[in-house]
Amino acid sequence: MAKIFCVANQKGGVGKTTTSVNLAAGLAKLNQRVLLVDLDPQGNATMGAGINKAELEASIYQVLLGEADVSAARLRSESGRFDVLPANRELAGAEVEMVALDNRERRLKEALAKVDADYDFILIDCPPALSLLTLNGLCGAHGVIIPMQCEYYALEGLSDLVNTIKKVHANLNTDLRIIGLLRVMFDPRMTLSQQVSSQLEQHFGDKVFKTIIPRNVRLAEAPSYGMPGVVFDPSSKGAQAYIAFGAEMVERIKTM
Ligand code: ATP
Ligand code: MG
Repeated sequence: MAKIFCVANQKGGVGKTTTSVNLAAGLAKLNQRVLLVDLDPQGNATMGAGINKAELEASIYQVLLGEADVSAARLRSESGRFDVLPANRELAGAEVEMVALDNRERRLKEALAKVDADYDFILIDCPPALSLLTLNGLCGAHGVIIPMQCEYYALEGLSDLVNTIKKVHANLNTDLRIIGLLRVMFDPRMTLSQQVSSQLEQHFGDKVFKTIIPRNVRLAEAPSYGMPGVVFDPSSKGAQAYIAFGAEMVERIKTM
């Protein structure tokens, strides 16, 4: 049975996709079987895994509307050595079209159940909104990974996300829990980064992952080569941190 995690934060540009793609590749390096689900019409996780979103025969859009199975729509990231359920702009339409369908929050969950046995981890890259798409991610997952930048406004908006997770837990998915807050794009030379980081530890205790992802340009360059940073430059500080985070997640699921 796969453990299913959403990478979510309704703030834009906080490192959700970078985390999803590199955690997927990091886990693959640790011999874990991984499916990366791109739940964002931007299709950045798809492209970052080396798959051309403009040439998809089927995508998560058809899966959510019940027109294709995950097994027919998934593709292989050859560079990352994991499977991808890809997305492109078409997915934006699903947001509207699903409203009229039965079980509109549980469509991803039901689709993933059919491939559950093929994987150790399923990672869902959520869009920057608390939308019906994100709700499908939260309903289908065992836990949420929240990437955060250690800056002044980091905590603003976190309570909206936490409240949404609580509501989903109460009404739709009692499995759901916050697995942890992941500090990303960390700059140790900035006093503010250090301060916010220790505030997070004080407030959230062991809900803060031990691994810290540094700001590292190699992680930002990798997508233009269609490769996860972990594969593009394995010795870079960013890649090393995501591999360490993969190991932390492997340990974490042993206690779940
Ligand atoms: P969106 O909300 O639009 O989906 P996101 O939360 O998925 O954004 P990313 O796309 O992962 O965020 O990252 C935003 C930008 O920051 C990208 O250009 C990415 O390459 C860069 N970035 C992410 N993490 C790092 C890092 N650790 N070091 C340097 N650059 C990073
Ligand atoms: Mg993204």
